[in-house]
Amino acid sequence: MQRNFEKIVTVCPYCGSGCQIEFTVDKEANRIIEAKGAPGRTNEGRLCLKGFYGWDYLNDPQILTRRITSPMIRKGGKGSPLEPVSWEEAIQYTAERLQAIIKEYGPDAVMGAGSARGPGNEAGYMTQKFMRAVVGTNNVDHCARICHAASVAGLKQTIGEGAMSLSVPEIEDAEVILNIGYNGATSHPIVARRIVKAKAKGAKIICADPQISETARIADIHLQQKGGTNLLLLNALAYTIVDEGLVDEDFIKNHVNGYEEFAPKLAKYAPEAVASKVGVSAQQIREAARLYASSKHSVILWGMGITQFSQGVDCVAACSNLAMLTGNYGHYATGVGPVRGQNNVQGTCDMGLLPNEYPGYQDVTQADIRKKFETAWGVELSPTVGLKLTQVPEKVLEEADPKKQIHAYYIIGEDPAQSDPHLEELREALQKIDFIIVQDIFMNRTSEYADVILPATAWGEHDAIYTCCDRGFQRVRKVIEPPAGVKTDWEILCLLATAMGYPMHYNNTQEIWDEMRSLAPKFAGATYEKIEALGSVQWPCYEESMDDKGTMYLHKDGQFATADGRGNLVFNEYQPVKEEVDDEYPLSFCTVREVGHYSARTMTGNCRMLRQLEDEPGWIAMNPKDCESLGIEQGDLVRVRSRRGSLITRCLPTERAKEGATYMTYQWWIGACNELTNGVLDPKSKTPEYKYCACRVEKL
Ligand code: SF4
Repeated sequence: MQRNFEKIVTVCPYCGSGCQIEFTVDKEANRIIEAKGAPGRTNEGRLCLKGFYGWDYLNDPQILTRRITSPMIRKGGKGSPLEPVSWEEAIQYTAERLQAIIKEYGPDAVMGAGSARGPGNEAGYMTQKFMRAVVGTNNVDHCARICHAASVAGLKQTIGEGAMSLSVPEIEDAEVILNIGYNGATSHPIVARRIVKAKAKGAKIICADPQISETARIADIHLQQKGGTNLLLLNALAYTIVDEGLVDEDFIKNHVNGYEEFAPKLAKYAPEAVASKVGVSAQQIREAARLYASSKHSVILWGMGITQFSQGVDCVAACSNLAMLTGNYGHYATGVGPVRGQNNVQGTCDMGLLPNEYPGYQDVTQADIRKKFETAWGVELSPTVGLKLTQVPEKVLEEADPKKQIHAYYIIGEDPAQSDPHLEELREALQKIDFIIVQDIFMNRTSEYADVILPATAWGEHDAIYTCCDRGFQRVRKVIEPPAGVKTDWEILCLLATAMGYPMHYNNTQEIWDEMRSLAPKFAGATYEKIEALGSVQWPCYEESMDDKGTMYLHKDGQFATADGRGNLVFNEYQPVKEEVDDEYPLSFCTVREVGHYSARTMTGNCRMLRQLEDEPGWIAMNPKDCESLGIEQGDLVRVRSRRGSLITRCLPTERAKEGATYMTYQWWIGACNELTNGVLDPKSKTPEYKYCACRVEKL
């Protein structure tokens, strides 16, 4: 007999491209039958392999047995086994432990990490509300800290708004694309498709990347620079634009501050002076600058290849400088695109999962803003900027005053013991924290340090809104019923808040969203109904009326989001990476992504299909000449060492890697490359220098 299958459209959880997926669902059997691309604004019916195959963990009976379906507590304290308990007991225990820590050390002894993955914007809003209104601290952050926090800071300095200025569909109408530190083919395949389409329509591509990435292969100019030279290169491009008279003088005069002071500071960055350090010819740099400046439809795209450095913020500001110098802001198919990695990392920033801002990028130190939130939430709020995620180890291991240490860590949908740098140091910190709550769908590497485990619904099991990389809000729909015993993240937060004496009750995510909208003017007009009707609404969207359909590109006509409406050119001197190669550690080491997996593999590592595509725990990609000099061949087991640790993996010789450089994916439990990475931080954004440290490779 023919069964009735339902079609449900939702949004892929695996990257900021924001692809819409249509699921065919057997509601009676509570099973997904198949997935195909839906005609979303950014994906136009296309999906990459993660979108097509990344959902079977929701159905698979064997994998479902691995889901956490009961809260757990270490009743015997640290070191004792986790034991299943009822929700009532888990919530009561967690509330009492948190309250005891707050009583003894104060609210700033608690750190909260929200999730940019499955839970969605409403859970993000609730996480920061819980930390601020219930715990009483601004110590709340999320994984943007370790990826694109530098983009937010660098763009805020220069143009006042930390988001992608253009839209994904506009990329294909650009005439020139400067792609720097970004390999869209592995991180955002459906965004990368727009680059390929732009090329097919006649755009010129400049790719700055030490690797011969997929984008480098189609580039008109490949600046195969040495790792860690981004700011040298960007300043040399700016120098050339000024030196060769390519500046858009009208745009500077009408819309930009600081040109007179900025231009002379570039003097020592002539391409001829820096080319040997950058590792590409002066002529190539000059040609790239001329090409970029030749169009009013030039776009700069970047990824973590510029943000995950100790000068990430300065590099982002330097990208923004190039766009201002050439008038490439404020009209169709131009601007800058920090292409956000995780599916909802733009959304978690939007929702105020940041230690310095409430939802809608409103400053916690500004009295009138704070008063607005105090009135709405009915409590006094902390006026002090909170701790950043990457400051947790130092606040545990180096802070002598117990009153200033972190004593409790609430981790929702993140796995710092896999994803954070310098894992040995992080493990030491996690061992010393008095009380750790892990809220997730599967046990992860951080679970072994947890005192409480709270099981949450997965993507596909709850409603939400995600924000994709170009500021687009989209509806995420419940596709199937969750396993018995789990709760949505926002329900768990409500239970915990209520047990701690701050009653929180919502009937659905729309009520949470409406409360958020009432407090964040940038998002006020983006109602559920409007997002439903239009499929996607890009912020800012101020008015509820359907006349306000949101904003395709920012800074229209050169009106920037700064106090005086003008952009600011910001010059920074180049500084070398913090750990250079030497005789003992002669190779550079850089983290990259595996296209078939996502983040710390909590979801994709539990997908049968994706595991079949790539289930070998890691490799180190090296130039064949380096392999030859070390006497190693493809597939050989090697030990990789840095000053912080070592691991065993297999050798992958590839011409993609520049001589002297090595690359590893960060997604595997075995051969976890964060054993090697350097925890040194950008002083402005506190983003780690994942993309460069020194290592050596030894044949086993
Ligand atoms: Fe689209 Fe990204 Fe999902 Fe691939 S992983 S289908 S590019 S949202």
